[in-house]
Amino acid sequence: MKSISVKNVTKTYNERVTALNDVSLDIDEGRFIAVMGRSGSGKSTLLQMAGLLDSPTKGSVIINGEDVSSLGKNQLAQIRMKTIGFVFQAFHLNPQLKAYENVMLPMLINPEYKTKADIQKRANELIDMVGLSHRAGHYPNELSGGEQQRVAIARALANDPDFILADEPTGNLDSDNEQAIFGILKSLAESGKGVMTVSHNEAITEIADKIYYMSDGVLGENKK
Ligand code: ADP
Ligand code: MG
Repeated sequence: MKSISVKNVTKTYNERVTALNDVSLDIDEGRFIAVMGRSGSGKSTLLQMAGLLDSPTKGSVIINGEDVSSLGKNQLAQIRMKTIGFVFQAFHLNPQLKAYENVMLPMLINPEYKTKADIQKRANELIDMVGLSHRAGHYPNELSGGEQQRVAIARALANDPDFILADEPTGNLDSDNEQAIFGILKSLAESGKGVMTVSHNEAITEIADKIYYMSDGVLGENKK
């Protein structure tokens, strides 16, 4: 089974702030898990550990059976590119590029995609999948927040990752768009991807398969 396994991870910043304290959690394929908790509780730090964006002070992260602790920067970047898609609160689209061009970007650095025509075709399919084919040629500033986040999800899917990690993906959205984005993330889990969403939004408790609560760097589980 595909999974990201965070094992007994502690993360200390500047040898003073313990952002994560002996945290363990699995992100398994086909599951939608949510991590809730107040601002400053360590949610983003956990997402960065699971997504190989930063390394633990103690403990390990195992991706599809491989302990990544001893890998260098380039190897980590390769694993990230192939196995993990990220979605952030602030969308982070390139304002100079049209929606479908934003989705093309991650594929342009992936040697598995050979021609630009293939890449463009796949980008448009992904845009279609998130329900935005009528906006494919628009620039980010011509799109609503909800539409921009859909483009960002399409972009996260570009290299067909096993996992999607989303950090407060609905933090800038109204409740209708929030439902739509959670719905897309849920359907990605149903299609087999492992999805972790970090949020302090209660609406996610309705839709996630499992909820964790983070408090002062310590992770707890609920009964769902
Ligand atoms: P959350 O996402 O739940 O708001 P974070 O993971 O961003 O929480 O932060 C957890 C704690 O770690 C906070 O006390 C925060 O100030 C601290 N922190 C986060 N990132 C850094 C950093 N790069 N350097 C120093 N402290 C940090
Ligand atoms: Mg955060």
